[in-house]
Amino acid sequence: MEVVGIAGAGTMGSAISALFANAGYEVVLYDINRDALERAKKRNEREHLLELERAELRRRDRLEIRYTTNFLDLRDCDFLLESIKEDLGLKIEFFKKAKEVCRRAIFATNTSSYMPSEISEGADVNVFLFHFSNPPIEMPLVEISGRGDPSKYVEYARKIGKSPVLLKKQCRGAVLNRMLCALGVSLGYALKIASPYEIDASVKLFGMKYGVFEIFDRIGLDVSLDVFRSLKEAYPRFSSEFIEGVLQQFVDSGKLGKKTGEGFYRWHGEEIVPEKVENYVDITLLLAVIVNEALRIVEDGIADRETVNEVWRLATRYPGGIFDIAEILGYENLSEQLKRAYQETRAEIFRPFKGV
Ligand code: NAD
Repeated sequence: MEVVGIAGAGTMGSAISALFANAGYEVVLYDINRDALERAKKRNEREHLLELERAELRRRDRLEIRYTTNFLDLRDCDFLLESIKEDLGLKIEFFKKAKEVCRRAIFATNTSSYMPSEISEGADVNVFLFHFSNPPIEMPLVEISGRGDPSKYVEYARKIGKSPVLLKKQCRGAVLNRMLCALGVSLGYALKIASPYEIDASVKLFGMKYGVFEIFDRIGLDVSLDVFRSLKEAYPRFSSEFIEGVLQQFVDSGKLGKKTGEGFYRWHGEEIVPEKVENYVDITLLLAVIVNEALRIVEDGIADRETVNEVWRLATRYPGGIFDIAEILGYENLSEQLKRAYQETRAEIFRPFKGV
């Protein structure tokens, strides 16, 4: 039986360990924090089994997983996926060690904001991007990119029931997080005229499964802040003191979203406690910002239009891709909205990119 090592037993790593164990792999879940492993074990005993059931992926009654704080237990892995804190230095250190310890593994990272090549070069190993979207059991997307033959990575993703999407080129944030980060920055402006709950209700009315603030709560507000900070280094248009300030306040008060039971929402287990909403808002500008970023992604040669559409569908469960939404709303309409917002704010996030 092939052995799969997952490093990092947090929001993502714990659920990913469930996916691999469910698919029949021998799984080792490693973390430096014993409490994180305890929490992961609890979630794998109940919550993740229910999620597998709901996602129609469940194949067994219980998940056999070895929980460990001993790095040497990763020695016999065939596939090692790193899903630790979003910190480039830590990720490089992790793979330097893995290179010494693992005898035959191929390496992958679930990083949200770094390029696998940055990790590969830092640690002198070959690391592929193997990026899930949240919630990882429910959402079918895994973005894959890296140097060399991706076929083994594609096979692992398929075997755990996911729909792998192969990117043509690496970039910081890949496809999904570039679109989500652009959206996040524009939310800073939307929050000046509407509450998070009004925005989320409007997004859901449009047909998205989850509201955007609900998504940030699910991601974790600490992780969201790390990702914003990292991506704005690569893309200065993602700078937003406002949204960083909001996230920082939550982090300082220990409200990290779903994982601590409170963030933008109060959480009852897997579900948000619904907030009362009196007004709906026009979300066309928010969608225009995402389309704008999607066009840049295509222009940068990261993925073609069809692939970007696919990423959107698989990560949001919306029936159409982001360019399908653009067709429905009309490019002229989107362009007008962006131009107006850019004139009013001079914020780079609204500057219309060619094609919109
Ligand atoms: P998390 O904060 O929930 O968990 C991170 C875990 O890593 C913690 O349990 C921590 O103890 C552990 N850790 C830290 N340093 C370590 C080390 N050196 N060795 C082993 N374990 C270590 O974070 P998360 O949300 O699960 O995110 C993990 C990774 O996945 C990040 O790179 C993040 O960007 C990425 N990611 C997150 C999401 C999301 O929605 N949260 C989605 C896709 C990808």
